[in-house]
Amino acid sequence: MGADETLGAGRGASGPVPPVPGHTDCSEALLRAYEFLDGELAPGDCARIQAHLEECRQCLQQYELDITLKALIKRSCRHEHAPDTLRMTIMSRISMTVTRLEEF
Ligand SMILES: [Zn+2]
Repeated sequence: MGADETLGAGRGASGPVPPVPGHTDCSEALLRAYEFLDGELAPGDCARIQAHLEECRQCLQQYELDITLKALIKRSCRHEHAPDTLRMTIMSRISMTVTRLEEF
């Protein structure tokens, strides 16, 4: 029989797998991230979002941004009032997130 040696050779170690759009629902993960932050998710959903954040760098970055924003908002609420620049930054970040979500 013919030797089929063209396949099988040359496949090196598996590299990092780039996030595939649509494979895991990033939009849902990001939407749920807010509930996840607030601890409002059911344990099952919680694990699902956490698993997604661990394997999806884009969502993880967004999630960390959310954490930072939340901390900023909390801090600025405790102290007097949020500076207008901070509030504008937060609002633009949030609208950026919404825009990105709508692109999916
Ligand atoms: Zn994702």
